Amino acid sequence: MAQQPYIVGNWKMNGSRAMLAEARAIDRGAHRVTTVQVALAPPFPLIALLAEEASAIGVGGQDCHTAIKGAHTGDVSAAMLADIGAGFVIVGHSERRRDHDETDALVREKAQAALAAGIGVIVCVGETLAERDGGHAETVVGRQVTGSLPLGDAAIEAALHGNLSIAYEPVWAIGTGRVAAVADVIAMHAAIGARVTDLLGEAGSKVRILYGGSVNGDNAAELLAAPGVTGALVGGASLAAETFLAIVGAAIKANS
Ligand code: PEP
Repeated sequence: MAQQPYIVGNWKMNGSRAMLAEARAIDRGAHRVTTVQVALAPPFPLIALLAEEASAIGVGGQDCHTAIKGAHTGDVSAAMLADIGAGFVIVGHSERRRDHDETDALVREKAQAALAAGIGVIVCVGETLAERDGGHAETVVGRQVTGSLPLGDAAIEAALHGNLSIAYEPVWAIGTGRVAAVADVIAMHAAIGARVTDLLGEAGSKVRILYGGSVNGDNAAELLAAPGVTGALVGGASLAAETFLAIVGAAIKANS
């Protein structure tokens, strides 16, 4: 059976109680949607508030610690996310790799911690512009997938249940308005898919591979119709219901 497209909004460090009005509108819009899975990852302080209200969308975190609890001031564990109603967490976003020096090994540990806590995971990978221009994009992303993806029975189980996804986000396309060429996206998603199957076997084919990087209502249809693109991770355009629901609408069309 074909996988349902997964459209996930990453609010990053944006949002407020007042902005939950947009999230509510997204939730209302998603009520009519049966063929696309919709989710939002607001900043930590809003997760519980949104999770308590939302009924049609998934709610998740943007990061978690590798440990369940302990002396890690300022950090939040996957178990805590699960406890307040989060259903998934994004790990290894390029902004965390950049701002917090996160390595592939750390990202994998976070992903394993999330699976152990019983929540889904979206593992982010993507090359810089210098790496793409140097002709190393597939090598870099392949290395990130091999180093960051959770492995073992928990990962296979999560993959089989649609709880393990990868977001391919070229760093140079995030928040810049520049979108990767569709042919490059198709090639990269195929390479990632092959790598995931090497790592997880058959179950690897159930891992959804989202594209991320300046996705909006105008370019979503073409990206989401591309072979191997099973969803989108959306930053800026997820902050307003109108622009985010336009992307959800494009996913519905691409999947019909
Ligand atoms: C992101 O940061 O995950 C992202 C894709 O951002 P934007 O859509 O704003 O490029």
